Amino acid sequence: MKIENKFPTKDISLEDLKSKFPLVAKKNSKHVSKFEIAGVEFGGDLIPIFAGPNMVESRDLIFDTAQNVKKNGAHFLRGGAFKPLTFPYRSEKYTETREKGVQWLKEVKQEIGIPIITEVMEEKYINLISEVTDIIQIGSRNMQNFPFLTACAKTGKPIMLKRHYGASLRDWLGAAEYILYEGNSKVLLCERGVSVPHTHRSTSRFLLDLQVVPAAKEVTHLPIIVDPSHATFWRPWVKSMSLAAVASGADGIMLEVHPDPSNSAVDPLQPIDFKEFAELVKLMDNVARASFKRKVK
Ligand code: PEP
Ligand code: MN
Repeated sequence: MKIENKFPTKDISLEDLKSKFPLVAKKNSKHVSKFEIAGVEFGGDLIPIFAGPNMVESRDLIFDTAQNVKKNGAHFLRGGAFKPLTFPYRSEKYTETREKGVQWLKEVKQEIGIPIITEVMEEKYINLISEVTDIIQIGSRNMQNFPFLTACAKTGKPIMLKRHYGASLRDWLGAAEYILYEGNSKVLLCERGVSVPHTHRSTSRFLLDLQVVPAAKEVTHLPIIVDPSHATFWRPWVKSMSLAAVASGADGIMLEVHPDPSNSAVDPLQPIDFKEFAELVKLMDNVARASFKRKVK
């Protein structure tokens, strides 16, 4: 079926594509970015999986998780040594591991042989983290910190730009343009839930915007990653939303996985455990093959 529609103008105009984010915009309907990061292809048949704890809590936790998620199909280990925590108060368990955590990520990468994605929050830590990470994660809260985006882009490292929960597609693509503008083209966009009045549970602060996946793909060539963990904030919903994310056309999935979810130092309602992860990878692979002739493993 061929359907024609005038270019939608609610959020993005034709003029935006030409003058506001020409580097991020598709040059034609078939234009899709394909590139490798640490030997893993993005934008092709594979839908890479990023899995790991919210926070790099301890050396043991990160080694245990890395080993397990690698064995069960993760392509990248995720986890923050530096965390954007909503409130300034810290219990001992809740404390960021910072430089020590970055060192553990370095060790786990060498010893287990899994590439890393971790968040950088401040310009002064860009060099330290870039030496270890394969992908710099820019968190939602920094999405429009423009000088910071430019500084991260200048490292030449691949970047995953999480969408701010209040950002339009136009804002998000504008932020990505700052990175491409520096000559850094290995950019992944990540949808992680938006703020809306109705989220169906008092603990779910965000709503997973899966509609943004096909919407973004109409205008940008960049791969779109989906993070159902941060959106749902609720472990029982992660499975169905991950499968739906694959079916929506996502080019990668980020999942919080913890050996003992209810004892996660941060956000214990949201991570899935190792067993759930292993089962979910198989199911996502089935959906990928059935929907788009793509694969997860
Ligand atoms: C995270 O991935 O750990 C994180 C803090 O995500 P976000 O920036 O989307 O809240
Ligand atoms: Mn988190």
